[in-house]
Amino acid sequence: MRQSTASYFIRKEVPKDEEAQNAQLLIRAGYIDKLMAGVYSFLPLGLRVLRNIENIIREEMNALGAEELLLPVLHPREIWEKTGRWESLDVLFKVTSKDKREYALGPTHEEVIVPVAQKTIFSYKDLPLGLYQIQTKFRDEARAKSGLLRGREFLMKDLYSFHTSEDDLEAYYQKVTDAYKTIFKRLSLDALLVEASGGSFSRYSHEFQVETETGEDSIVLCRACSFAQNREINDAKEGDACSSCGEKLEVVTASEVGNIFKLKTKYSEPFNLLFSDEKGESHPVIMGCYGIGVSRLMGVIAELFHDEKGLIWPSAVAPYQVHLLGLSTSDEKETEMIFKRADEVYTTLQNAGISVLFDDRKDISAGEKFVESDLVGIPLRLVISKRTGDKIEFKERNGGEEQLVDFSYVTQYCEENI
Ligand code: ATP
Ligand code: MG
Repeated sequence: MRQSTASYFIRKEVPKDEEAQNAQLLIRAGYIDKLMAGVYSFLPLGLRVLRNIENIIREEMNALGAEELLLPVLHPREIWEKTGRWESLDVLFKVTSKDKREYALGPTHEEVIVPVAQKTIFSYKDLPLGLYQIQTKFRDEARAKSGLLRGREFLMKDLYSFHTSEDDLEAYYQKVTDAYKTIFKRLSLDALLVEASGGSFSRYSHEFQVETETGEDSIVLCRACSFAQNREINDAKEGDACSSCGEKLEVVTASEVGNIFKLKTKYSEPFNLLFSDEKGESHPVIMGCYGIGVSRLMGVIAELFHDEKGLIWPSAVAPYQVHLLGLSTSDEKETEMIFKRADEVYTTLQNAGISVLFDDRKDISAGEKFVESDLVGIPLRLVISKRTGDKIEFKERNGGEEQLVDFSYVTQYCEENI
């Protein structure tokens, strides 16, 4: 993408109505725009990051054998009454139409997926089954002050699994746990696997929590044996002995990036989702559900990967792999030469399948370009200027020395350093 013709959303000022670091950074660097508390637009750069996160999740869900679908956002009141959640779910957004019909905006999709599954599940031969979507959710959250960490409108991946037995659910649950570990690793995140209250159907559910100062969860953690519980269920204090190994416990703040649940028959029963076994007898289908906060992840990554100059994206999610800067001089001819070479590098890299943001603006000073490049945070920066002569300057956003590399090595060098 050429910056001379691209949209420009970078802001000099820190937005005043934004407390959260992730949102401040992402707004200043031109990734998101705030419409109102908890509701953001994803601008061209931001959408590229969001899509990268989404695609990593999608790949790992597909590797599990789960199938992607897309469920509606607008739900009739009746399905929410069936499970009692029309009244009990305090974050449910309710909408009334002009003919006085009532609807919910989907905060989660058990009430929709179960009737859908009913159209494909008849016998034990149809199970197990995994269906997922990546979709916008709506929740009337009381406090939406944490930027992308807590939206009233946000992007979630939700997977639902269907089984003949609790053993089969347990095996699938373990497979999803492993897939989640792979996802967070690919996103460069150390996610803690945390036990949390499982409600009435199982002793614990599991949350994946990433340590961040802005996180809204408090976690009791033992680094010696990796025991971790949400403090909503464990009131241990810093320094108490770990109940598993006796070492000292820590209390840390964290943000929940994923949540996995054994639903068992909680949603299959109200909708009468049954399967027939080998003997032809009917039983309720056993279910699991597994969420990941896709847009929250983008916020968490911004919280963790930045310095005083701006963002430092891990390469797996960066909007572009390379930021190429051409720098003008006061001499017009010289400037022409520099940009001609920069253009060649841009084409060469693109032909090699490397995504490049090319700062080809001639009327912007070198100083300004560097400041903006640091703020935007693309992992690898290439500079072509009078100073670099017939070579190219490489620098990693995440520290490291500047290096001068020959033109003929540019593709190879990028491939090795991405
Ligand atoms: P929280 O305790 O943070 O409200 P939750 O338990 O309500 O989360 P789930 O219903 O399990 O969350 O949703 C699955 C995932 O969606 C969560 O693990 C989280 O990453 C993300 N998520 C939940 N609520 C929000 C929100 N308001 N904004 C952004 N992401 C969210
Ligand atoms: Mg919640």
